[in-house]
Order: sequence, then C-alpha cells, then structure tokens
Amino acid sequence: MNSRAFDAMQSAVDIVLTSPHPDNKVAASLFSETTLLAQTNNWPQSILDKIGKNTRIGDSSTTVHAEVNCLLNFPERTDGAEITITDPCCPNCAKSISESGIKTVYIDHKGFMKDFAARRGSEFKNMSLNILAHAGISIYEINRKEKYITAIHKPAQGYTPPETNPIEVIERPDLHSPTIDDLKTLIKNVRVKHPFWGCAFAADKSGKIYSLVASTHLAIGYSEDRAEEADKLTEYKNPLNPEQKYNFILTPLNRLMFGATRHNLHLIDGMIWTSLIPTSRELVNFIGAGYTQIALGTRQVYLKESSAEALETLKVAGLLEIIKVD
Ligand SMILES: [Zn+2]
Repeated sequence: MNSRAFDAMQSAVDIVLTSPHPDNKVAASLFSETTLLAQTNNWPQSILDKIGKNTRIGDSSTTVHAEVNCLLNFPERTDGAEITITDPCCPNCAKSISESGIKTVYIDHKGFMKDFAARRGSEFKNMSLNILAHAGISIYEINRKEKYITAIHKPAQGYTPPETNPIEVIERPDLHSPTIDDLKTLIKNVRVKHPFWGCAFAADKSGKIYSLVASTHLAIGYSEDRAEEADKLTEYKNPLNPEQKYNFILTPLNRLMFGATRHNLHLIDGMIWTSLIPTSRELVNFIGAGYTQIALGTRQVYLKESSAEALETLKVAGLLEIIKVD
C-alpha cells in the first residue's frame, strides 16, 4: 500500500470528466516513485478523422481505454509501477497491466457503484480480478473521502507467477537503424515453438536497438499446467467462439507492445512483425499508440474473423500499411 495512491487517484478523478466519451468516462493514473501520468479513455485523433466515433473496428470499439493510454505513454519503465483507476478494469486492460509488470492496482470505491460496473461486474470478478491476481498484483479499493484503502486481493507471501514463456529482449549493438532486411533476418533466425508469434525492433531513450520476440501465451501466471483454471472461466480452448468477447490469451502484438513499455523501450514503426493477424482491440491500441505500419506473415492467420475485418477497415481508411513478410 502506498499513501501516494490517494493523490494519484485524485489526479485521475480530477480529469475524468474531460473524457470525450459521452457515457463511459474513465480515468487512470500510473505512478512510480518519481513520475505520475493521468489519462482518460479517448478516441485516437487519426481514428476520429478517418473512421469516426461510432463505426466498430472489427469487434472493437474505436476508443482506447484510460489504462492503456497510461501504459503506452508512460515516460519510464512500467515494471514495478502502480496504477489507480476510477472504475473496475476490463479483462483486456487487466492483461495489458499484467504484461507491463504493474505491481499494484487501486480502484476507486465509487467505480463499483456505477451503472457500468453493475453491467460489467461479472467480467471484472471472473476475469479481470483473476488475471491480475495470477500475475501477483495487489488489488485495493480506495475510498478518497473516508481515507481508507481495503485489500481486494493480496498475493500469498513469496508468490512468483509462473512465466513459462517470457518475452525475449536482446540488445543489438550491431544495429543502428534497422531495415526491413534486418527484420527478415530476425524472423528467419528466431526459433520459437509456438505457431503464433511476433518480433520487433525497439529503441531505448539513448537510441540503442533491441530485438523483441514474443509468442502467444496465456496471461502471466496461467502457465500451461494451469490452463485448466482458465478453461473453467472462459473458452480458452475455443478462441473461435464468437460469443466470447474476452479470453485469457495474450497474442503477439499485445505482448510486444506491453513488453516494450515494461522495459521503457519504443517499438520502431515498420519494424514490427507478427505471424498472427492481431485482434481488433490490439489494432485499435496500436493505432492509438501512433503506429502506421505492421508487417504480417503472408499466410492470413487469425483467431477470430473480426481480426481480418479490423485490418481491412484500417487499411481502407489509410490508417495502417501492411507489409507482407515471411
Ligand atoms: Zn479496459
């Protein structure tokens, strides 16, 4: 527990009404010892300009959630940072928070009373809470007025989440300004067991280059031997089920994006490749983070048809250039 959490929550509450969303106004504040960043949910400007507010992109809304805006814009490494949120988070944000290495989540007590929380309560309870808890994250409810913090979940002492397939981050002193040929060489030389994987080049603040490799994986803490637990809660074994909005799987682009924020690296636009067409939500977050190009395998592989629809929508709108690379 951190007494700075009250200030951080207040900074989120202070901006929540500036959210452009007409009925779901959410804000979050991400903080470390030295830095604090508060953000609301919003529409990326390029999506507003070219697609508009009300068209869906695949099966995703066009907004970027407050938590993701915090993670993708935080000026430091997110590993070990803490986040306060005005509302209970959705399962997708829970996965992104876990992948970014956040250690503590605070939710405003008023967030549990809202209509939105009532509608989304079971998703939070059955999925988001479990995803955060498995990642070893402490979860608190915060009451600003009465000045108390209540634990919703604390990891057992000494709990370290199993991570059977962590993202690989390797410094590449041999590269200064990677090209598409360097990306092709990286793709060719990587040995991964999983058919769905991705890789990218990223830079740190000083301009040093890194290669990142990540495979599709269950959320942190759900290693393959705990897949049964996830299976009980969702359609983990059947990601093609169109009725299932959320699942416990992290696909490559998400892992690359939030693995990069974890280490305070910036993925280089045009130097990001995935064998799997990203999900609609991943693509909206990707555009929101300012990317304009994605390299994809020539085989059109996706977990849900909505991924292919989202890709097409963004391509037609001129928001995303697709580079075919095998
Ligand atoms: Zn969310």
